[in-house]
Amino acid sequence: MSAINVYELLNRKRRGAALDPREIEIFIDRYTRGEIPDYQMSALLMAVAINGMTAEEMATLTQAMLRSGEQWHLRDRYDFVADKHSTGGVGDKVSLVLSPWVAACGVKIGMLSGRGLGHTGGTLDKLEAIPHFNARLSRAELEHCIDEVGCVISTSTEGIAPADKKIYALRDVTGTVESLPLITASIMSKKLAMGASALILDVKTGSGAFMRNYQDSLALAKSLIAAAAGSGTRVEALITDMDRPLGVAAGNANEIAETLDVLAGKGPADVEEVTRAQAVRLLVMSGRFDERAARKALDEALRDGRALAQAHRWIAAQGGDPTHLPQPKNVIEVKAPRSGFITAIDTYQAGMFTVDLGAGRKKADDVIDFAAGVMFDRKTGDEVRAGDVLARIQMGAAQRDAAELRTRFLSFVTIGERPPEARRLVHELVDAEKSLPR
Ligand code: URA
Repeated sequence: MSAINVYELLNRKRRGAALDPREIEIFIDRYTRGEIPDYQMSALLMAVAINGMTAEEMATLTQAMLRSGEQWHLRDRYDFVADKHSTGGVGDKVSLVLSPWVAACGVKIGMLSGRGLGHTGGTLDKLEAIPHFNARLSRAELEHCIDEVGCVISTSTEGIAPADKKIYALRDVTGTVESLPLITASIMSKKLAMGASALILDVKTGSGAFMRNYQDSLALAKSLIAAAAGSGTRVEALITDMDRPLGVAAGNANEIAETLDVLAGKGPADVEEVTRAQAVRLLVMSGRFDERAARKALDEALRDGRALAQAHRWIAAQGGDPTHLPQPKNVIEVKAPRSGFITAIDTYQAGMFTVDLGAGRKKADDVIDFAAGVMFDRKTGDEVRAGDVLARIQMGAAQRDAAELRTRFLSFVTIGERPPEARRLVHELVDAEKSLPR
């Protein structure tokens, strides 16, 4: 590989100039090998976070990070295999519901998921609340699970996008997590490394999303799709609402229980609606269903018990036993202090509250308390009377002051005189056409 002048390159990016594709490739390659030190990568990350990247730079960065490790090309092994990614939220158990539901309709799912980040929960953490569940599969075990039961969710192995692992750790400590090009390259390098036939992206928007503002969420959706151009994985995004927790349960074990309820046709309607919207797109992208047939197949799989049976087969294939989920030691009810309508729940605060109960990590080595969480019995738009139960706080091992928890909970819930403006759950479908750079 030809040489680059790292100092001069950093200077140029700091001034806002675009880098050549070759320079980006060499920088990432040399950094992954340990030939460029963390302090120079940190400088590049900060320059990118401040000045952004062109569509071409972003695509090159994604490709360079993808090529830093293994590429599985899973789509070459199967007629069709689908993947899904969420940008993260509170109570977001869509991946857990979607995988067995779509697989029950005959479309295979292969998914490499992550752990909780900041105020958001992580699919792998939730799965690990299931006693004996193995979320660390090798590539061979992952493929075996797809072959045998039709769906799998596991953690990304060491070999997938090692550049992202190093860069993400630096971003975490250099204030460069919230950057559109860096988020895009991080997510898509991992997703494209697995190489599914199709990928649905659930891009969240609202107070509990990383992108709170709708235009930022739309920009992220377009950017993620654009980064996949020419990769062989067909990508669509749905922008969905995260201005209130999704479903009733937020935590780990409680979200597994709610997942099984949804698959039994007895879960919260919002989880079912948001999951169905994404499941329909995957079935349509498989080429085996039009939209109407996809909806019908999904309805039938839910009604006749195949979706739930598929979930049990899949969980058992990864060693899990969901019949004995960790249970809270104590439950604290939070009651409405006045009558009215819930006009807002600050969902970021709701997520941080859930993390603080022990359901998430504040430091990488924190141990999760799987039994801890919150049941959001009443949500934005609901009419409540003074004294109605708004939520149940599920306590794990930690002892906490009930009055303090109630006060903190009520600090992020607003009750007003009139109902708030209705918000849709599924806002917009974004596909490759819409994401072309203009
Ligand atoms: N998820 C990732 O994998 N990377 C990011 O940068 C943000 C969310």
